[in-house]
Amino acid sequence: MKIPEKIKTYCSKCRKHQEHRAKQVRERGRSDRGMAKGNRKHRRRTSGYKSRVGEKANPVKQSKKRKVLLECSECGKKQEKNYPRSRKKIEIER
Ligand SMILES: [Zn+2]
Repeated sequence: MKIPEKIKTYCSKCRKHQEHRAKQVRERGRSDRGMAKGNRKHRRRTSGYKSRVGEKANPVKQSKKRKVLLECSECGKKQEKNYPRSRKKIEIER
């Protein structure tokens, strides 16, 4: 999907519509919470004899829901814009 580089949308700091510059947001991986409740439970259940607990298939997804970072050209406030459908990739047109 192609996205124009300049988008006119509402800026909450200027309280009116302003021109925004679009940037792609790089996805960060989830941090590993080793002591989270689910992880502790999994460790307890998989320890010792007869330790196998039903394994879930984890399919690799082809597409993701993408985000675009919009920066106001007047005040420089940044906001994220979500695109509701998942896509393989997005491009910012120049
Ligand atoms: Zn602004």
